[in-house]
Amino acid sequence: MPKSMPSALKFDLIARCSTTKARAAVLTLPHGPVLLPIFMPVATQGSLKGLTPQQLEDTGCRLCLNNTYHLGLKPGQEVLDTVGGAHKLQGWKHNILTDSGGFQMVSLLKLANITEEGVRFLSPHDGSPMLLTPEHSIALQNTIGSDIIMQLDDVLVTTSPDTKRMREAMERSVRWLDRCVNAHANPTTQNLFCIIQGGLDLEMRTECCKEMIARDTPGIAIGGLSGGEAKSDFCRVVSTCTSLLPEKKPRYVMGIGYPEDLVVSVALGADMFDCVWPTRTARFGNAITKYGMINLRHAKYANDFGTVEDGCGCMCCRTGEGGLNITKAFIHHLAAKETVGAHLLTIHNVWSQLALMRGVRNAIIDDKYPSFLKQFFSDQHRGDKSKYPDWAVEALLTVGVDLMA
Ligand SMILES: [Zn+2]
Repeated sequence: MPKSMPSALKFDLIARCSTTKARAAVLTLPHGPVLLPIFMPVATQGSLKGLTPQQLEDTGCRLCLNNTYHLGLKPGQEVLDTVGGAHKLQGWKHNILTDSGGFQMVSLLKLANITEEGVRFLSPHDGSPMLLTPEHSIALQNTIGSDIIMQLDDVLVTTSPDTKRMREAMERSVRWLDRCVNAHANPTTQNLFCIIQGGLDLEMRTECCKEMIARDTPGIAIGGLSGGEAKSDFCRVVSTCTSLLPEKKPRYVMGIGYPEDLVVSVALGADMFDCVWPTRTARFGNAITKYGMINLRHAKYANDFGTVEDGCGCMCCRTGEGGLNITKAFIHHLAAKETVGAHLLTIHNVWSQLALMRGVRNAIIDDKYPSFLKQFFSDQHRGDKSKYPDWAVEALLTVGVDLMA
């Protein structure tokens, strides 16, 4: 096991919910402070589809995700080295988190093959065999210069019935973390996060937590979830891990973005989340609102001259200074043929997710998170408790909140 590494972050716990396991914190990263809990939008190709860095900044975003796999392919390590990293390349002065590139390869490339050495795959450009090792992943992320970098892990879908393979993936992820720690060239300017694996097996997750905690990385992620497992299983894994994790480190649950998943995961003690869903769904004409999602392609919006969401503070909905006061009818009109409709909805959806997390954070600080949760579910389902998802009701009961009461 390598000796513990320096940290390039500061984690200040501001408040703890007196009922649930929710926390509010300030996470100070090399490119400024971010307020936790946080949702991080995903900028796949070094940009959030259709948004300028200025527009992304205006949503309140201070930490976004970049995909190492995409940046590594194009512009590639040499260009990134020359320009001085991803912040400069994108004109983004706030924080960036990069994934290891492994998950993208396994999910995008059918021929990816995992061995102890690393992830073997065929180049999507010319079909030549390539190998992503823990060392190569870290070298790429060091070049990108992201504020948070992720270890290369051996990811298996949580629903895999192969217990032996699940154990191998979990143990290999620990060994790969050691290789990542040793390869990390910039521990005083970039924060390496480990990733807890172990599928839906709570004992294996517990074992992995202990191994990962011993490596003392600046932050800790819970990985492999959001891959089609039952939401109740998801909640059990998150809750088991957060109960074991050190209090003074950020906890990141990877691949989570539905509003209900976010508020429940926060109640279970998680701080950070990311997902492509809010931006992807915008391209299908879907707007995230307090009362659930609405599809603006629907004919009923053709003559609806109200803003996308009443009272929303995003540039798209706002009526005051700098606001565009965009109507549902306008998005409906654009949705079928113009990309600008998708851009406007992307702005709204990212704002909406960040505003939700601001509300979550303020409620935790005021120690009113249980009533926030009740109001949230009531709004989402317009007061109809019979529509509340069972998994959410059950998960919140484990942390002392009864939505049905
Ligand atoms: Zn809006």
